[in-house]
Amino acid sequence: MKAHDAMYIGGAWRPAAGTDTIAVVNPADEQVIGHVPAGTAEDVDAAVSAARAAFPAWAATPPAERAARLTALRDALAARQDEIAETVTAELGAPPPLATAVHAGLPIFVTGSYAELAATYAFEEKVGNSTVYAEPVGVVGAITPWNYPLHQVVAKVAPALAAGCTVVLKPAEDTPLTAQLFAEAVHESGLPAGVFNLVTGLGPVAGQALAEHDGVDLVSFTGSTAVGKRIGALAGGAVKRVALELGGKSANVILPSADLAKAVDTGLANALSNAGQRCSALTRVLVHTDQYDEAVAHAAETIATYTPGDRIGPMVNAVQRERVRGYIDKGVEEGARLVVGGTEAPLPQGYYVTPTLFADVTPEMTIAQEEIFGPVVAFLRYEDEEDALRIANGTVYGLAGAVWGEPDEAVAFARRMEAGQVDINGGRFNPLAPFGGYKQSGIGRELGAHGLAEFLQTKSLQF
Ligand code: NAD
Repeated sequence: MKAHDAMYIGGAWRPAAGTDTIAVVNPADEQVIGHVPAGTAEDVDAAVSAARAAFPAWAATPPAERAARLTALRDALAARQDEIAETVTAELGAPPPLATAVHAGLPIFVTGSYAELAATYAFEEKVGNSTVYAEPVGVVGAITPWNYPLHQVVAKVAPALAAGCTVVLKPAEDTPLTAQLFAEAVHESGLPAGVFNLVTGLGPVAGQALAEHDGVDLVSFTGSTAVGKRIGALAGGAVKRVALELGGKSANVILPSADLAKAVDTGLANALSNAGQRCSALTRVLVHTDQYDEAVAHAAETIATYTPGDRIGPMVNAVQRERVRGYIDKGVEEGARLVVGGTEAPLPQGYYVTPTLFADVTPEMTIAQEEIFGPVVAFLRYEDEEDALRIANGTVYGLAGAVWGEPDEAVAFARRMEAGQVDINGGRFNPLAPFGGYKQSGIGRELGAHGLAEFLQTKSLQF
């Protein structure tokens, strides 16, 4: 795998200020595949200076020209689709079909969507005797997680650039090679120097320095709720804009009028995709008590078809695997019934976890409350709709959800859920619709026009 021994700052690859490096490991075979520099506050400072210097000209660039550069960026990413997919497979362990279609394909689509939005968005509107302008917020500090190494980057950088902001990205330490490929695509797309900058490094060092930097006007963070709270507090102290995309514990609610088998199978496909390392994974399945045994029996058959190493990839690293195993142990300890799976390693090598199904899970159990971020699914029973709603809304999270049943009933139920995005009867993910959380799942929205608005501030002129 190709790894740059440098930071991408001010339109060029530059040596890092320090000499420390981060080893990148393939979680499927535990082999080191490359090293990247571990950035320090000095690197962050250089990147923020470059972004500040580039901001006035980029903000003043007509939206049609910003759109043209984003189209070129989309094309540069599309030309590298195979290389991106191979890199994501190497550093995340994602199975090749998922890597090509989702990990590489989705960001290409999203970049294209922002090329279109840059060209069509109403950056100026008349309100009575005023003209209201939507202006870029300034320099964006983007901090991203490893679970979708390119999508998480593009979901921040593309709308920021469309808005006229400049960016410093600190990607996750587990998946920096994909971020370096993105920087190469930026370079090829002819974006002006300093509009996009990349600093690889550790969260508490480079990430923290970026979040704290006075030259950053908006911090856009995706990751754990624990780190998100710290970043929100830092931003609050500095009266700085912040966008937070955090964890989830999403419910898949199967109403009695649903197609039970389809609801169970589609829900499991969602919960196990990317080996369950998804913030929006439907990890709590809520089934009416009359249908509960049938649903669990069906789920047990389906989940057994998700073979580790083939249909399902490894956890990103050893720490994450231990976290997931810890939750499985906790589920057993607290009295949930382990139907399929467990903590035993399914393969001799790699950080794999066998897809695991728990039944007889009650709402207060740890595995029903905390985000596991692995292939572990909990089946809970409910007595009636009000009970289902209490359980669905009964966590600190509110990112996503799903409802299955007669369409009007399902929509009525979904409207009462505390969640930012709900799939009705298997409705497909829409990358133009706003994505983000209620409650402790976050602040702000990504994707589509809502995602663009995050990077804008308004000014009105009265006549
Ligand atoms: P994490 O919070 O540990 O790390 C996320 C990013 O923050 C990384 O780049 C990391 O280096 C950086 N970071 C860590 N400590 C920091 C600090 N003190 N200051 C600044 N930056 C710091 O999360 P993770 O383990 O990489 O990702 C898993 C979590 O992300 C899960 O909880 C998951 O739900 C969440 N997530 C949410 C979404 C969403 O859209 N809501 C998407 C993906 C992942």
